[in-house]
Amino acid sequence: MADVEHRPTNFIRQIIDADLVSGKHSAVQTRFPPEPNGFLHIGHAKSICLNFGIAEDYQGQCNLRFDDTNPEKENIDFVNSIAQDVNWLGFKWSGDIRYSSDYFDALHDFAVELISKSLAYVCFLNAEQMREYRGNLTQPGKNSPTRDTAVEENLALFAKMRAGCFKEGECSLRLKIDMASSFMCMRDPVIYRVKFAHHHQTGDKWCIYPMYDFTHCISDALEGITHSLCTLEFQDNRRLYDWILTNISIACHPQQIEFSRLNLEFAVMSKRKLQTLVEQQTVSGWDDPRMPTIAGLRRRGYTAAAIREFAKRIGVTKQDNVIEMSALEACIREDLDSAAPRAMAVLDPLKVTITNHPATIEWLDAPNHPKDETMGSRKLPFGPVVYIDRADFREEANKKYKRLVLNSDVRLRNAYVIHADEVIKDEAGNILELKCSYLPETLGENPADGRKVRGVIHWVEATHAMPAEFRVYDRLFSVANPAAEADFLTVINPQSLVIKQGYAEPSLQGAIAQQAYQFEREGYYCADRDSAAAKLVFNRTVALRDTWGKTEE
Ligand code: ATP
Ligand code: MG
Repeated sequence: MADVEHRPTNFIRQIIDADLVSGKHSAVQTRFPPEPNGFLHIGHAKSICLNFGIAEDYQGQCNLRFDDTNPEKENIDFVNSIAQDVNWLGFKWSGDIRYSSDYFDALHDFAVELISKSLAYVCFLNAEQMREYRGNLTQPGKNSPTRDTAVEENLALFAKMRAGCFKEGECSLRLKIDMASSFMCMRDPVIYRVKFAHHHQTGDKWCIYPMYDFTHCISDALEGITHSLCTLEFQDNRRLYDWILTNISIACHPQQIEFSRLNLEFAVMSKRKLQTLVEQQTVSGWDDPRMPTIAGLRRRGYTAAAIREFAKRIGVTKQDNVIEMSALEACIREDLDSAAPRAMAVLDPLKVTITNHPATIEWLDAPNHPKDETMGSRKLPFGPVVYIDRADFREEANKKYKRLVLNSDVRLRNAYVIHADEVIKDEAGNILELKCSYLPETLGENPADGRKVRGVIHWVEATHAMPAEFRVYDRLFSVANPAAEADFLTVINPQSLVIKQGYAEPSLQGAIAQQAYQFEREGYYCADRDSAAAKLVFNRTVALRDTWGKTEE
């Protein structure tokens, strides 16, 4: 346990430490229990890093268990994407993937046990009556008319439920706890309902399905989970979790511990809202690079290491909080600053003819990383025609403008100083081309005549330039708390995706999906899976600096 001391501690680790010292447990067993009804998001990543991270640090085990009790909303594509995401984040689950549905037989038998103990009954109230009978926070509930049905009759009714003799909504199996409890979840909660639904794991075997609260605690116990970590909204349900395990014949009784969910500014995190974005085609799919899903972040260019680092930085507490998007962005920026090779790409090309350059191509050396020689160098072609970015030229500008201005000088990164001699325009006054001259003696040297060079800009040589599409992604929402809006679809950031057609330097020819680069002065980008030899496609992962809400000079 020596390495544990180097990890950031939190209240959950303190509970585990105490359990190991007292001998309550000799090994740690956790689980991550997603419902396969959507893709995982960055909030789930927090839970994954917590559950798998604890298992790793204490040399324990973590199970991946699909909480699959809602067959109508779940499917195998979600199962597969979730398993892939957990894997990609760098975690290994213990043994095979598990499913709550693996335990449907056992759950059924525990339900029968509870009926036999007169702790569960079949109820015929419909949904509306059920609500009315439940009472509210100030009013106790009323007992269901069938609450005191004899055990034998309840057993027969439950068998009929299972046999498909009742319609959906006609009846349910409820626990007999306390209709006056101050915890609403203890007012005779439903544990089984009739559903004639095909299930992705169990097919048509069942027409009754157990509810989450009943399934979850028993699945935990059957797997020998020691610490069942969940988010704060289950705090009240802990009473039910413990009640069920106390009243059935099972030896294991995991401890449920709640922690606060991750909320992130400028993002929505509920699966229902994410699903709406997909269905309304506001985004291209669950893995659209603007989605806070793990698949979206991956496609955007986030690395697993950056997401794990983010989870570490935000920590684990019981306090509700909202994390700034810039905290997540800082993690990927730091990772890519050292890991991503530098390259040049021009997103909004302006043709520059270098009038005094011979009609030949020369090959210059450019380091792949300014601070890391081990990353090597590449060859950059330079010739009589290059592209620069339109935003890097002005006909007139004051001294603060560190780029190219008519009749003044700028350095082309890794190449020569050029002087802007002439602007060619069309009839409407749009700039078509610049005529410049280069200073041949300025490769790696300052101009000999002492003239002032305004700054350094990036460029791409024209005859070797690779056509490329740049998908410049930004935050999906224009407000920090989109979930607070009456309709969160009305606050989509219209600039969340701006597509530009430009050029990339030829060394990027073989850029494959996920390969990350820092495009000099533009930002961190990664090749998209749509990228092909005929046209490269790059996604902007993050800008070089945090520029949200700031305007450029
Ligand atoms: P949603 O509310 O988006 O539908 P969920 O809680 O229903 O999410 P599950 O698939 O049940 O999604 O979640 C699996 C696990 O991930 C649960 O233990 C849940 O508590 C945890 N989890 C979900 N969202 C977050 C979050 N934002 N922060 C931390 N943990 C989360
Ligand atoms: Mg859930």
